Parts: sequence; C-alpha cells; structure tokens
Amino acid sequence: MKCKVCKATAAVALRSHHAGFCPDCFLRFFSRQVERGIRSQNLFTSEDKILVALSGGKDSLSLMLELSRQGYDVTGLHIDLSIPGSSEVTRGVVERFCARHGFKLMIREMAAEGLAIPAVRARLRRPICSACGKIKRYWFNKTALDHGFTALATGHNLDDEVARLFSNTIRWDTSYLSDQGPLLQGEDGFARKVKPLWRLTEFETANYAFLMGIEHHYAPCPYSGGASFTCHKHLWQQLEEAMPGRKLDFYQGFLERGRPVFARQEAETGRALRPCARCGYPTSAEVCGVCRIREAVAENAA
Ligand code: SF4
Ligand SMILES: [Zn+2]
Ligand SMILES: [Zn+2]
Repeated sequence: MKCKVCKATAAVALRSHHAGFCPDCFLRFFSRQVERGIRSQNLFTSEDKILVALSGGKDSLSLMLELSRQGYDVTGLHIDLSIPGSSEVTRGVVERFCARHGFKLMIREMAAEGLAIPAVRARLRRPICSACGKIKRYWFNKTALDHGFTALATGHNLDDEVARLFSNTIRWDTSYLSDQGPLLQGEDGFARKVKPLWRLTEFETANYAFLMGIEHHYAPCPYSGGASFTCHKHLWQQLEEAMPGRKLDFYQGFLERGRPVFARQEAETGRALRPCARCGYPTSAEVCGVCRIREAVAENAA
C-alpha cells in the first residue's frame, strides 16, 4: 500500500479514512485531527493554561506531547494512587517522559491525602474502581481550580467515548447523556474539562505513540477486574469493520443532535449542588463522596 499523500510506502493503514500513510504524513494527519477536534468544539485557545491528566498510558502522554508541539501552554498532573508494585512504575514512566521533553509536572500523592487506594479498598465493601475514579476526578478538578488552570485535558479517545456513549444509551442514562462530550464547560466549583483526542481511535493514538517513541505503561492495575467497556469496544470494532467511519459518525451525530435534547431535559430536572461542608467541592449531599471516603479510611485506621 502507498501513502495517500506522498506515495511513499505506507506504514499505517486506516480503513475508516480509506487511506494509508507513511510515518511523516500520518503524524501530520494526527495533528490535523487534534486541531480539528479542538477548533470544531471550541475546546480552548492558545491563551488557555491547560492541565493535562497523565495516567502513564499512551493516550495521555500522546496528548501532552501533541498539544505542546502545537504550541499550547501545558502542565502535566499525575495522581499517585499509592498502589504497591504498580504506582511507582507508572509514576516513573510519567516522570521520565516529562523530564525528557522538559514538561512541567505536578504530582499528587494519595497516601499523603489519607486516600491510598489499598486503604480505601480495604475499607469499602463495593468495587474499588468507582471510588478510585471518583478520587482521581476530584483531585484533577481541585488541582486545576487551586492552581488557576483554565482547562483540564484528559486523553480519552474516540473508542473510549463511543463505548461510554453506547453504555449510557443502552441504559438510557439521561443524566450522563446530557453532559457527555469533548467539552464540559466550567461552572461553580468545576473546572472546564476537555478531550482533544475525541476524533482519534485507540489504534491511531497507539501508532502516534509508537512513531514518536513514547515509552508508556503496559502493566494493568492489580485491582482491575478487566478493562471497562471491553465488550462494547469489541462490538464497535466489528461494526466499524463492516461500516468504516461509523464510529465517528455516531459520536458526532450525538454531539449535534442527541446531547442538546438531553441537556435541555436535564436542565429542567437536574438536582441542585452545594459546596461540601468539609472541603467546598460541589455535592448534592452535605459532605462530598471523597470526604466521606477519607473519613471512613481514617476511622478504619484508628
Ligand atoms: S483499575 Fe486500578 S487505577 Fe483503574 S480505577 Fe480501578 S483501582 Fe483505579
Ligand atoms: Zn507520505
Ligand atoms: Zn468534601
């Protein structure tokens, strides 16, 4: 197969775009897709101060590198979950990546916050991943607001977004359907959240990471009971093979025609939020979920 642009030997074949690319043309294609994703949804501009959540996986590291190459003001944030045998490896990957590229990096250690994930897991009687996700979102948001960042970027790609949308749709979860998308505007107590890789698939991001020589973290978290949405991603892969381009169409169609309807409905029925009595984070209860987890862990340790 030849490169669609320069006719050199293609290194990456993209069925959904009916095209093959050589390494240089693929990297330009990737950059253009990120640019289109940012501009078409007004995610941010070069005036913004962007905090990028770095998990140590290929998506978040690729996002950081690409935004910096496009001239945006980026700072990395890594949440050290304090999981023995896993967190130190992930943190090392992120630290080496930022040092190599000269990126600013902030690290929040959950052990220092009384929220080490093994201690939370020992205390809770429900699956750890939902509490862990809540804790990570809380610290992303809090760090962005406390340090004056104007956008918080995560490395979610098109496959992540479509799998989540599909899961919300088959449950008709109107609350999630009302605010899923590449842009969630900031409001009282919440930072503006953006997902600049929303037009790019996992395969495309993996190729970008490979071609850019990004070392990333492969070892799964020891508490992961299998990646979430795996079944949905598999279904969508089959659909995409039969109908190339359907994934992006489905997601864009939702953004244009589905989400506004759910958002209007949610605005009429949504629950009011108020600041947590302990930390000020917006919550529908008296005390927010993360403060309650922290208190439960402290009681357990006492
Ligand atoms: S798999 Fe591990 S890191 Fe991911 S949410 Fe679950 S506990 Fe947290
Ligand atoms: Zn080429
Ligand atoms: Zn709180």
